[in-house]
This record gives sequence, structure tokens and C-alpha cells, in this order.
Amino acid sequence: MNRNLHVKILLALILAVAAGLVIKHPLFIDACTFVGQLFFNALKMLIVPIILSSMVAGIMNLPDIRGLGRLGGLTVSYYLATSIIAVATGCLFVFLIKPGLYHSMPAGDVLGLNASGSEVSTHLASKSLTDMKDIFLRMIPPNIVSAAAKGQMLGIIFFGILFGVSAHLIPRERKELLARVVQAIFDTTMKMTELVMYFAPIGIFALVAKVFAQTGLSALGPLMLFFITVILSLGFHFFITLPLLLKFFGINPITHMKNMVPALLTAFSTSSSSATLPVTMECMEKRAGVPNRISAFVLPLGATVNMDGTALYECVAALFIAQAMGIKIGIFKAFLVAFTAVITSIGVAGIPAASLVAIAVILKIIGLPVEAMGPILAVDRILDMLRTSVNVFSDSCGTAIIAKLEKHED
Ligand code: ASP
Repeated sequence: MNRNLHVKILLALILAVAAGLVIKHPLFIDACTFVGQLFFNALKMLIVPIILSSMVAGIMNLPDIRGLGRLGGLTVSYYLATSIIAVATGCLFVFLIKPGLYHSMPAGDVLGLNASGSEVSTHLASKSLTDMKDIFLRMIPPNIVSAAAKGQMLGIIFFGILFGVSAHLIPRERKELLARVVQAIFDTTMKMTELVMYFAPIGIFALVAKVFAQTGLSALGPLMLFFITVILSLGFHFFITLPLLLKFFGINPITHMKNMVPALLTAFSTSSSSATLPVTMECMEKRAGVPNRISAFVLPLGATVNMDGTALYECVAALFIAQAMGIKIGIFKAFLVAFTAVITSIGVAGIPAASLVAIAVILKIIGLPVEAMGPILAVDRILDMLRTSVNVFSDSCGTAIIAKLEKHED
């Protein structure tokens, strides 16, 4: 990947924020929507071939299929541990800052949380609010083509793992041929990513300018304290917890962050960890030098199930709503919120605004009206950009740490 790309993307991003805040003309917004969508589509187009080819190639490149157990164990342990730490950070910041209180009184009425919101129902109706059981039922899809068409990544990953493991068990000659073909497909998809990323500065400019032209900063007003709570807790996880973890395993956090800049900026502008996956993979392999057999397995799984920023956000949003509505959250309910946030963050898709469905699930579980999340919708887009960057950064840290541990093992 072009070494100067991250500088160009960063410049595009700064220009986009400035242009979006100044130019509000519908023609400008339409043009940005069109160009941004082209770039977003090009990245999304690569997700299914990359997940399938990387999972299968990654597993087939393992010298011994038993290595998969260790790799899987490390991956799941890292992803669970960091999600739990993220959720705990979110809880802590809500209890310290108390964003739901105004002059020590629940601020539900001031914030408009108590008004019934038709916007929320419309939003959730389009996202089909399923219960948690359904999220996990989708893990084993009855039809792989339909799962791919619907963007159900957990199902594709399950298929990829089963395929890769089974391929280890066929006669050696055919196995080697298959491994070479799949590796070639994977290499080609990575080349495609490189080509798409040439257009990243333009695509990212369009996506970000559109958000700032449409949302502006005025929507933040009444929800400023909530906004600040989310930013501080995400910032704590991004700038303190994860770098400390890297340092603990002997990885330089600054170098790692620099290597990940293109992926972080793509995550920020697309608000989709799935769409960012091709770029994350490219950064980990080409810039951070992580071996393909590790990143090919750990990253697709991470982009789908490891969402620290999302888990943290769900927790902060649900506790904020409870606080603003004057509902007392005891230790049991706080634990229930945190637990549900971790579980739903595993199940939600890596697409824009996916958290909102999970927040609705949590509110239902703790007995709060789903309509209360209405005001949050107005500021969600910008927070989505930030939490998606945290999601992607955590995946990359996990991959770097696991690569280090595996190297040690080798
Ligand atoms: N947009 C997030 C992602 O793709 C998911 C969410 O929290 O809405 O990682």
C-alpha cells in the first residue's frame, strides 16, 4: 500500500469536516452521497471473498490442524477479555460523569427521552429487532449464498472454518492444490483492496463531508454530556487500555497505531468494521508485518465478533437512559446490562448504526421503553464513526498480540 496514503487520507478527512460544516447545499450533499456510496460499495464488494478466502487459506496454512485450537482459544480469550474491560470502562464513566442527571435530577424531560418517538419505531422496524437467540441461530446458515447476500458474516465464518478444517483431511496432493488456489484467490482480493484504496482519499472525503453537512454540530447541544461520556470512555480504551496491553506484550503502541492509520481512518469514515476489513488486513500484513496465517484467521473473526467500542457504547447508552429516566440501576441490573452488551456486541453486524438494535434489546431486558433512545439517534452517526475505529483498533491489537505469542510458540 502506498506509504503516503495515510497522509492523503488524513488531509481528505480534515478538508471534509471543514467543507461539511460550511457547505450545506443539497447538490454538494447529493454529490458526496453518490461518490461516498461508490467507495463504500467497492469495499463491501470485497468482504465475502476476503472472509472466505482468508479463513480457508489461514487454516490451510497452519502446519497442523491442532494449531487451530490454540489460535482459536487465544483469539476468543483476547476478544472476550477486551470487550469486558471496555464495558467496565463505560460503566465507570457513566457513574463518574452522570450524563443523565441535570442539577442532580434525572434529565429525561429536558432531553426529550420521555416523549414517545415514532422515529425509533421506524428505525427499528427497518432493522428487524430479533432476540438474542436469533443472532446465534444465524451462525449456522442453512444457505451460504443467502447468508452472503444478507451480509451474515458469522455464518460465512462458520462455513469458512468448516471448509478449511475439512480441507486438511483430504488426500495430500489435492489438499496442496486447493491450498495454492485459495491462496491465489486471497492474494488477488488483497490486490483488489490495494486498487480500491487508491480512491480512498476521494471516497473518505465524500463520506465524511456528507455526515458533517447533514448532521452539523447543533444536534449535540442537549446531549453534550452523553457525547462527552462516550468520547472519554472510548478514548480511554483506545489511548490507554489497548496501548498498555500492547506494551505488556512487547509491542510498540505508537508504531502499531501508525501502521494502522489507513484502516482507522477508513473505519472512521465508513462506520463499518466489515467494510474496513480488507484495509485492516492490508495494514496488518503489509505495514505491521503480521504473518498471513495469523491475520487471515484472527481479523475476519474480529471484524465480526469483537466490538469493544460497540459493547462500551451500548452499555453507556442504556445506563444513560436509565439515569435520565430516574430508574435506579442496582448492581444486579448493571451486571445484566454489561453482560447483555458484551453478548449483543458479538452478534451485531459490523455495519453503520448496528448498535441501535442492540441498545433496544438491552432496554427491553431491563424494562425501559425502547422509544427513550429517540434523542440518541440524532448524534449516533458521529459516535458510530468513533466506536467503529475503536472496534477496528482492538481487532488489530489482538492480531498483533496473538502473532507475537504464536511466534514465541514457534
Ligand atoms: N458501526 C459499528 C461497526 O461496524 C457497529 C455499531 O456499533 O453500530 O463496527
